Amino acid sequence: MLPNVSAIDDLVTEFARLPGIGRKTALRLTYHLLKQPADRSQRLARALVDLTERVRPCARCYNLAEGSLCPICADPRRDSAVICAVEEAADIAAIERAGEFRGTYHVLGGRLAPLDGVAAEDLTVDALASRVQGGGVSEVIVATNPSVEGEATALYVQQQLRPLGVRVTRIARGLPMGGDLEYADGGTIAQALAARRDMT
Ligand SMILES: [Zn+2]
Repeated sequence: MLPNVSAIDDLVTEFARLPGIGRKTALRLTYHLLKQPADRSQRLARALVDLTERVRPCARCYNLAEGSLCPICADPRRDSAVICAVEEAADIAAIERAGEFRGTYHVLGGRLAPLDGVAAEDLTVDALASRVQGGGVSEVIVATNPSVEGEATALYVQQQLRPLGVRVTRIARGLPMGGDLEYADGGTIAQALAARRDMT
């Protein structure tokens, strides 16, 4: 009788779906886990279940949160008058690593990309406008990536916020065009934030 290896196939398939992991690495990881004590794999499985059950978008800024608010929105020392709008929650981690920004964030949930089927209504720009309308916001820094889609998204955000009378700034082009905020070093991010300009 042939051994039933569908459990192995299933895990290899799931690993191979992750970014940067090919089928070969997926196999290697799976066989590595098989050689480990069972409780290690069980801990990994539990961590994955916890991730899906506990992590939710922040009710205010759409950053990742375990409660209703993310740690940044819940921190009274952060300046809620300044909102930095980013494409993805991973960009927040990059800006936080730079350690200069003391304001709050808003995760747009991507960038305008009509060819990939991402339209304005798929982003959280309306929620951002609501936050501005709620009062107490003096500036929105648009920190979308320096790509064609990122620039188009920045322009769209500015157009939506302009009627609300809030100052809208764009991070400087210290970042390479086509680059990704998520992978930029802290110094570059700090510089791009410091040299931001008004969008007119
Ligand atoms: Zn938040």
